[in-house]
Amino acid sequence: MNYELDSAITYLPGIGPQRAKLLEAELGIKTWRDLLYTFPYKHIDRSRLYKIRELTTDMPFVQVLGQFLSFEEGGQGRKHRLTGHFWDGEMFMDVTWFHGINYIKKSVKVRKDYILFGRPGVYGGRLSVIHPDLDNPESMTLSKMSMQPYYSTTERMKKAGMTSRTLENFTSSLFSKLTWTIPETLPGYLIERLHLMSLDKALRAAHYPTTADELSAANMRLKFEELFFIQLVIMSYARKRQQERVGRRFTRVGEQFNNFYHHYLPFPLTEAQKRVIREMHADMISGHQMNRLLQGDVGSGKTLVALMVMLIAIDNGCQTCIMAPTEILAEQHLQTFRDFLRDMPIRVELLTGNIKGKKRSAIETGLLDGSIDILIGTHAVIEDNVQFHDLGLVIIDEQHRFGVAQRAKLWEKSQTPSNSPVMGRTKESLALTGEVWRGSFPHVLVMTATPIPRTLAMTLYGDLDVSVIDELPPGRKPVRTMHIYDNQPEQLYRGVIREIEAGHQVYFVYPLVQESEKLDLKNVQDEFFHLKEVFPQYKISMVHGKMKPTEKDAEMQKFVSGETQILVATTVIEVGVNVPNASVMIIQNAERFGLAQLHQLRGRVGRGAEQSYCILVSNFKLSAETRKRLQIMTETNDGFEIAEADLKLRGPGDLEGTQQSGIAFNLKLANLGRDGQLVQLARDTASYVLDADPELQAKDNALLRHHMQELKKEHRDWSQIS
Ligand code: ADP
Ligand code: MG
Repeated sequence: MNYELDSAITYLPGIGPQRAKLLEAELGIKTWRDLLYTFPYKHIDRSRLYKIRELTTDMPFVQVLGQFLSFEEGGQGRKHRLTGHFWDGEMFMDVTWFHGINYIKKSVKVRKDYILFGRPGVYGGRLSVIHPDLDNPESMTLSKMSMQPYYSTTERMKKAGMTSRTLENFTSSLFSKLTWTIPETLPGYLIERLHLMSLDKALRAAHYPTTADELSAANMRLKFEELFFIQLVIMSYARKRQQERVGRRFTRVGEQFNNFYHHYLPFPLTEAQKRVIREMHADMISGHQMNRLLQGDVGSGKTLVALMVMLIAIDNGCQTCIMAPTEILAEQHLQTFRDFLRDMPIRVELLTGNIKGKKRSAIETGLLDGSIDILIGTHAVIEDNVQFHDLGLVIIDEQHRFGVAQRAKLWEKSQTPSNSPVMGRTKESLALTGEVWRGSFPHVLVMTATPIPRTLAMTLYGDLDVSVIDELPPGRKPVRTMHIYDNQPEQLYRGVIREIEAGHQVYFVYPLVQESEKLDLKNVQDEFFHLKEVFPQYKISMVHGKMKPTEKDAEMQKFVSGETQILVATTVIEVGVNVPNASVMIIQNAERFGLAQLHQLRGRVGRGAEQSYCILVSNFKLSAETRKRLQIMTETNDGFEIAEADLKLRGPGDLEGTQQSGIAFNLKLANLGRDGQLVQLARDTASYVLDADPELQAKDNALLRHHMQELKKEHRDWSQIS
């Protein structure tokens, strides 16, 4: 290692304590290395001189070599301007200034060569460049004549006179000190295999490329490296765990599963459901702990898959547990499971924070003596000291709804051996039956409806195997989605009446519970009373996050049973709620919701055979991005397409899931949305390296081992996801 790159930034000319402080506070730059890795956000090609006859108004910045032959001042007030007649030896064009006219008159000379740099436009019907930069051709060094880097600066930096140019000067004086080769971080065999640029060359070219091609090769090398090390860390954790974590072998597909499949299943499984069940079964007989993510769009039938996988575990003498993010959802699962299983000899119980006293202790006993086969609960179940007789499978539903901390905890617990007092079989219970601890772990299945683009999933859940249900049960009609403005509710209300008269039910969803003056959002309670006036002939339920769980359930139940025709709700209903008779989802203030959330909400309808509708109601004033978002919703029902669009619109930093995962990937150049192919390459390469040398013991891989250790130190949170 060369430690010179760790030198403080103040060891560069022009950077005193004041500026150093600002650089650290604003851009996090403390050392030479930090500066080196502060990349320009764009380059402007100054490698080429244009002739005036080539210029068109749709060109970006261009430069022209020529002379001013004369100047002319004109116009009054705001139109006061100075026009120069610029001659390139062939043709004239206008150059116009509106400000600093006196300074220009004094400093710019006629019949002297200038390199003019600016954007061609039209002024007064003539080709003109307004407020160009003018450089003396003799002072233009080679580096300035080529691709010129532009660096981001903050408001505070600008106020202190620190511009992109200032940063460029720092960078160029840094490079003048780096007379040695910046040490490589990737082994030679990878650089060769992938035809990568060396790190030394890439770092220099990322700031001062000579051509656009060189710049893109440099960026590719640096992005690849960022992504590769992430994949290497994730995959090495995952592989290690795979080796260490012995899984119980569920070799029997037995009585309960077959009985259910042949006699209780109300409809045939979709091909996709069959496939993912097979994939999970293969995991569970492999002898390794299953760690699988099941992705499937809303309504794709994940619950049934969960139940059937649980039956496999039960047939092998184990207990199972499914965790839902909300009480409403947990209760709904209970109902669904009991409906599906009817009179089968399988004991399903619900345990939430609200279940107390005798009821609770009965359940606790049932868990300990093994008589409960399926436990359904919220995460509270896991936080309390719930003990199982023999837990073999844990399923986490709607995983994206769990916060970072909760998820980490769940993860930890589900990975404790099943003889741990919390998740698995207790030592005592083992002793009772005279068995020995077999050292296996409960299998883990995580289910999510938030479609995550593949490349992002590879990173966020890089250590999980992924199964996808990419097919909806037959007979569903795609939901028709419309966007309307909130100034004409009459038409909307007429539609609502039409649907209810046809025997259907309607959701009205609002973003917030409490009135917030600032955001001017509709208050659910106000709306509830308002809708009561609009629809005196109908019964209306209301649920929101501020209600007591029992109240909430009672209201929800009324809607589920069809007693009420309209449900007014906040996003508490976003996840999992299943009322097939509901055919209209009206989302008020739709502009306040993200794409993933809108898609989830829309998934609440279209569950029956009837045509369903989703109406996005928004304010008239919309940003371009919001408009685009709503437009995407009206154009597609495909969750993955929506997720890709979301990733492109907002970047992964904002994406639900990424945020909640709490993982700071610290990507400086790579973008998980745009650089999908590189993510794949990074993953394949990491896998290639680890296949050949799992522990990175080979001499060739010493660099990788070293760099990974550094990264693990820096990013504690990486271990969380693995
Ligand atoms: P999600 O994947 O969003 O959790 P659910 O499991 O709630 O979806 O399933 C949505 C609806 O589809 C439920 O009413 C369920 O009974 C039904 N369903 C599931 N699988 C099938 C199938 N193979 N054929 C028909 N309907 C199905
Ligand atoms: Mg579900």
